[in-house]
Amino acid sequence: MKLFESIVREGPLTVIPEPENVRVPLSCHRPEIKCGQRIARGIHIGGGHYVPISGTVTEVHPTYVCIRADETSQPTPKELNRLSGEALQTALNEMGANIPLGSVQTLIVNGVEPDPGVTAFSHMLNEFSQIIQLGISTAQSLLAPSRTVLALENGAPQTIEGCESVFIESGYPNGLDPLVAKAVTGKENPDDAVVLSVGQLFEIGIIMDAGLPCDKTVVTCNDTDFVVTVGTSVGEVLKAANQTVNDGDAVVLGGLMRGQAAHSLLQGVSKDTYGLFIVPKGQYPPVEDSPCIGCGECISVCPARIDPATISGYAEFRMYEKCRMHGIDACMECGMCGFFCISRRPLLQYIRLAKQHLTQADVCDPIDKGEG
Ligand code: SF4
Ligand code: SF4
Repeated sequence: MKLFESIVREGPLTVIPEPENVRVPLSCHRPEIKCGQRIARGIHIGGGHYVPISGTVTEVHPTYVCIRADETSQPTPKELNRLSGEALQTALNEMGANIPLGSVQTLIVNGVEPDPGVTAFSHMLNEFSQIIQLGISTAQSLLAPSRTVLALENGAPQTIEGCESVFIESGYPNGLDPLVAKAVTGKENPDDAVVLSVGQLFEIGIIMDAGLPCDKTVVTCNDTDFVVTVGTSVGEVLKAANQTVNDGDAVVLGGLMRGQAAHSLLQGVSKDTYGLFIVPKGQYPPVEDSPCIGCGECISVCPARIDPATISGYAEFRMYEKCRMHGIDACMECGMCGFFCISRRPLLQYIRLAKQHLTQADVCDPIDKGEG
């Protein structure tokens, strides 16, 4: 991890030191490690999650794994620089990168911040430009694009050598990947373009630099961007940002439009966490399961041009295949529908629930998909 460490050593960064104990969040799956096991950084825990610090497993739970740091196990980095093509793509994806292979016309580097109030992507572009460059050159070697575009919000000052800058109209949700792809290519869901966010390229760059899965993320909290080890608790990040949580406040992991509420201050951040926000009690009316009054507001604000009211209604009654028939797959999870819903229905939450069920149904039985 020579490049990353030299940047952190020399750069004006706010780094939260690696904690003694980490809690790595997991999606629903069976972890491949056991309590008491000594493990090295980079080992696969399961479901695309990796050990961020070498140490001893102190707790295994369906939704997280706790590890206490010690130096008994040493990681074994992979020599990725010697690989190319399919072998490199496989090695990267085995470390959680999720990068496609095959030639495309346009590689789009999405540098627009993913949520209002987040500045983590600008921070990565400014302070980790060499890591991002490494990520881009790796993606270029796998995708052989004839054009590489850096998409930025109007007025953003960043540039990347070898990338043509394209400016996206300011305002949420214009920076989401499908909308950026449309703005750059003029086509909806173009099959000759791949969009990789600055966050994804940071991850690929870190993997190439270290030869190990990415165990760092940049998190915006209280107007500061922190370099954070995966599994660091929400409470530790808030403490570093001098933030206090009062009774009834909500803590949101990610952004205010697309994020998810933290269920505990002990919860660890994941490699995809780019923001941490406190929503004070009473700032917004609470989300509740009130009936839809058919005002149509959610339909008018939906950038995917689908009907969130109907889809969430089917999701509420577990008719998940109907959600698919009404175009749930086009939903880019922007959160606009729920934000503007006058009945305060949890529209995005229902949509995410339905997507999760549909994915599980596809994995379990891709041929016979019942209505759940
Ligand atoms: S979250 Fe809601 S508004 Fe956004 S794309 Fe999905 S359905 Fe449309
Ligand atoms: S905004 Fe809310 S109340 Fe209005 S149609 Fe959509 S779901 Fe129904």
